[in-house]
Parts: sequence; C-alpha cells; structure tokens
Amino acid sequence: MSETPISISSLNDFVFCPVSIYFHSIDADEDDLLIKDEYQLKGTDSHKSSDSATYSTKKSMLQNICVYCEQYNLYGRIDTFDVEKGILTERKKKIKTVFDGYIFQLYAQYFALIEMGYTVKKLRLYSMDDNKIYSVKKPESNTEMYEKFNALLKKIDCFSFETFCQENAEKCNNCIYEPLCSFSIKK
Ligand code: SF4
Repeated sequence: MSETPISISSLNDFVFCPVSIYFHSIDADEDDLLIKDEYQLKGTDSHKSSDSATYSTKKSMLQNICVYCEQYNLYGRIDTFDVEKGILTERKKKIKTVFDGYIFQLYAQYFALIEMGYTVKKLRLYSMDDNKIYSVKKPESNTEMYEKFNALLKKIDCFSFETFCQENAEKCNNCIYEPLCSFSIKK
C-alpha cells in the first residue's frame, strides 16, 4: 500500500495518463478557465450541485462528504450516497463509455463508506445529459475489475516520472494538456 494517500479523483486520471494528474492538480481552481475547454468545464459543473449541497435536501442523502479509506490509503469525496437505500452514485456530465477509471472511483468511495460503517447495496454511474443510469457490480461480484483496481493502486505506488514514457499517441492527440506537456509522444 502507498505511504502517500492517493486521491480518489486521480484514479481516473491515472488510467488515462499519469502525467495528466500533475496538470489536473495545477488547474484545479481558477486556472480552470485558462486551461479547460468548454466540455471539461461542463464536466466540472456536473459536480457543482453536490459541491454546494443543493442536489437534495433529504437527510438520508449524503453529498460531497470527505472520506478516507484506511485499507487502501485513499481519500476524497463521495458524490451522492442514499443511506436509506444504500445506493452510491457518481454523476458525470455525459457518459459515452463506462471507463474503468469511473468504476475504480466508485470502488474507492465504496470501500471508504464500508469502513465508516455504512451498508452499500448498489453502485451506479449517472449520466446527467441523457439521464442514463449505469449499474456497476460491487467489487466482490466482479473479480476481474477488483483485481484491476488492486493492480492500479500498485502501479500508482510504483510510478516514477523518471521512467515514464507515453507510448499511446491517441491519448496525446486527445489530451487538452498536450501543448504544455513535455512527455507528449508528439514532441
Ligand atoms: S500529452 Fe500525452 S503524456 Fe502528456 S499528459 Fe497528455 S496524454 Fe499524458
């Protein structure tokens, strides 16, 4: 297990490209307007209602609460958790593909909630633009994804910028940080 706590939100970034975590961290606040394109700003907006706790006033709905998972040394926030129904939901602006990184973010939140003593019955992703819900199997019901989750955490633990080499040109072609990135395969 990593000695440095790992941010839950960085799991999806790491799957895309480890270097993008660095860029993501420096454009987290007001720099959003300088670096992010319109689509990504909209993606950020998808979490605004829960960030300001306006998504629901139901007392049984936990929103935007900070969590820490000791087992995996992960920290971050959950998007929405319906305590009564035991449903954990991560909202995205629009889901075109259910990326592994989305599922790993849910797993991290799931393990943190369990440690806190909550009963989590269902995991799901919610695509806000088209109002679609994607059910996600819990890690104990999906051995393959659970192993991938563990492998990802080990990979993050061992990661070094010194030895990293991006080999997937498609990722750099689709990366908003490409103009700033010295690791780009295009350079
Ligand atoms: S430009 Fe390429 S190497 Fe740099 S962050 Fe983006 S995907 Fe990663």
